[in-house]
Amino acid sequence: MRILISGGGVAGPSLAFWLSKLGHDITLVERWPTLRTTGQQIDLRGPGIQVMKRMGLMNLFRSYAVSERGLQFVDDSGRQKVFFPVNKSGTGLQSFTTDYEIMRGDLCGMLYGVIKDKVKYVFGTHIASLEPRDDAVTVALSDGSVDRFDLVVGADGQGSRTRKMILGSHDPDPFHYLGLYISYFTIPRREEDEYVSTLYNVPRKRFVFTRRHDEDTIQAYLGICGTEAELKELGEGDVAEQKKAYAEKFADAAWETPRVIRDMQDSEVAMDFFSQKVGQVKLDAWSRGRVVLLGDAAYCPSPATGMGTTSGLVGAYVLAGAISKHCSDRDSVESSKDALLAALQEYDTEFRPFIEQVQNLGPGMPRIGLPATRWGITAMHSFLWLSRSLGIDAVAQWFLRESNVWDLLSYESMDNLVIHEE
Ligand SMILES: Cc1cc2nc3c(=O)[nH]c(=O)nc-3n(C[C@H](O)[C@H](O)[C@H](O)COP(=O)(O)OP(=O)(O)OC[C@H]3O[C@@H](n4cnc5c(N)ncnc54)[C@H](O)[C@@H]3O)c2cc1C
Repeated sequence: MRILISGGGVAGPSLAFWLSKLGHDITLVERWPTLRTTGQQIDLRGPGIQVMKRMGLMNLFRSYAVSERGLQFVDDSGRQKVFFPVNKSGTGLQSFTTDYEIMRGDLCGMLYGVIKDKVKYVFGTHIASLEPRDDAVTVALSDGSVDRFDLVVGADGQGSRTRKMILGSHDPDPFHYLGLYISYFTIPRREEDEYVSTLYNVPRKRFVFTRRHDEDTIQAYLGICGTEAELKELGEGDVAEQKKAYAEKFADAAWETPRVIRDMQDSEVAMDFFSQKVGQVKLDAWSRGRVVLLGDAAYCPSPATGMGTTSGLVGAYVLAGAISKHCSDRDSVESSKDALLAALQEYDTEFRPFIEQVQNLGPGMPRIGLPATRWGITAMHSFLWLSRSLGIDAVAQWFLRESNVWDLLSYESMDNLVIHEE
């Protein structure tokens, strides 16, 4: 088949990896003028680890991995209240820090390096319009070209334009705000910053979070809960205005906050500043005819679950598996259309139970994990300290949505492509 993928983040290239191996002709359009390698630390969990191994890329992944020792919670003066170490045992669920941490840019670059000779990448281009028909989708691209594809895949992230194009004006908004804004940026490292992530809770449901990934810089995150109306200035205006709004909201916070805010406002330093409204994407169906959605575009679980990258990577594997199962024969146009629709339906049916588990946040999450008062923060630290003795899985899993009750599928039709890496 001739397949067009929109979006060169994590999910799009992962799908291109499998489909190009299956012999399909893949074009991938990325709106950004070059490979978009910004973004902070992301990780793999549960079936995401298995899929990376089946791709035969785990050793390569490891060569880029960030070796973080664990997560510490600190008080106003930086004193450690509780520490959750990484689970390096190779068994059981991951903790807050996984044994599979990587910078988003390194993962995007790694996938690009593996597929670039088999996939036609077109940077600085996006889909301008789609005309889906029974036998093909006619696509007009922003560079003025028009082409026909058997299948179009929208892997263009949380704010997917492909999704907007296939939804009708009466469809409900699939984005569900979770009452939290987060900003991400990189600042200079000081000598004492170690390979540990540090969470400082601030009253009124705020947090400051830092993690180190290289010699010279650390990542900084500012998070704050509120309604969209209360926090709208964090997402509106230009970057300088957004930074100013965050600085005002965190002006009274202790620990390392003054330094984080100062560095954030230095535009020479925090050039990668990014502010995000945290939410989930929920749709009743992930495809309409020959157009299908993948990754955050279809089922963004939100950074609050720790499962965005895993969902994109595993979704790509399941979609490729369903296509390999149903669309391997070169039959008549009519039967190949039925085969394709059956594949898209199977992707939805098989993968939806996993996504439902991942998106099923505990009651009140993520707001309930961010106390409003000093007393609440002290109580939370005590609770975490006590429960640490019950084992790391119990608490980390209450916050995060890794689960081992969904079994990764296997496809006979992909047997010759799958690598069983340890
Ligand atoms: C710049 C950026 C930074 C991120 N940083 C973090 C982070 O620090 N922590 C975290 O947990 N998650 C982060 N994410 C989200 C995380 O990458 C995803 O949740 C996860 O990896 C699933 O990936 P995805 O491929 O579905 O979506 P994404 O990784 O969001 O990739 C979508 C891709 O589509 C491209 N695109 C968007 N619109 C169009 C269009 N109209 N036409 C063509 N291409 C388009 C984007 O430029 C991007 O390359 C970030 C995403 C982006 C885009």
